[in-house]
Amino acid sequence: MEKSIRKLLLSAMALVTVFALSACGEGSGDKDAESAGETTTEAKCEHVEKVIQGLDATCTAAGKTEGKECATCGEILVAQNEIPATGHTEAVLSAQAATCTTAGKTEGKECSVCGETLVEQTEIEALGHTTTTGTCDRCGLSFGSWELYYYVDEFQQPTNDGYVANGSYFVGTFSNSATTNSRLYVTVLADEEDIAFFLYEYGSYQVKNASSRYSDEYEITMKLSNGTKYEMTGTMYAGGDRLFVDSSYRSKVLNALKSGEEVSFYIVFADYTTSTYLFTVQTNNFAEEYSKL
Ligand SMILES: [Zn+2]
Ligand SMILES: [Zn+2]
Ligand SMILES: [Zn+2]
Repeated sequence: MEKSIRKLLLSAMALVTVFALSACGEGSGDKDAESAGETTTEAKCEHVEKVIQGLDATCTAAGKTEGKECATCGEILVAQNEIPATGHTEAVLSAQAATCTTAGKTEGKECSVCGETLVEQTEIEALGHTTTTGTCDRCGLSFGSWELYYYVDEFQQPTNDGYVANGSYFVGTFSNSATTNSRLYVTVLADEEDIAFFLYEYGSYQVKNASSRYSDEYEITMKLSNGTKYEMTGTMYAGGDRLFVDSSYRSKVLNALKSGEEVSFYIVFADYTTSTYLFTVQTNNFAEEYSKL
């Protein structure tokens, strides 16, 4: 008997518990309904979109995307996102080799977008010529190389007739229809009557006039170190191996050679104007040697 009563009691308690649980569930359901009703009764803003300007990122500063907010209530409708800084865009500033007379630069870097220097170029000092007396090994420039020579007679004996010429070649360039800026060697000869140039293409092949009848005419532009230019003419006679400065210009060239300054010559073959010769003469001790004639 007692056992069955206890069973009944337990069953009754279980029923009460189930009821209590379901009642709690109903209660919470009522509360949700109430709160939903409250929200719908609040005044709703009819948002008015207003653009928040974006900001471009730069190399070093972050930017922002365009955003939107409500002009009325200020609510952010589209958030702005940060755009990370782009970082610099490296551009190489190429190195420049120093020469005997001009300074060079090391390689540098700059930003091609904002122009900021990222790696500074440093100056490389001009190297200077390898010598001040003979011919510079690096650039071929000759110094103080004018020498007095004597013509020889038919017995290969020196005569009293002298001439002054550069003992080591002046180095220049020549161009024609087949080549551009190839190496040119030049000897300048001056005696009491004439001034002549010997031109060696590729440093060895001598320019000559192969004709036995016709002279070759050349246009010669002489440029002094102060920039003054003289337009002159020259002639390579039939069968000749040298270009004479025409006599009316001789004294001008002689004065330039005596100046002690650099003198440049640009020579054009009149028949084929694509054939050009360009070289610079160091006149250093020319005057001194010439005065001994
Ligand atoms: Zn609003
Ligand atoms: Zn930059
Ligand atoms: Zn040099």
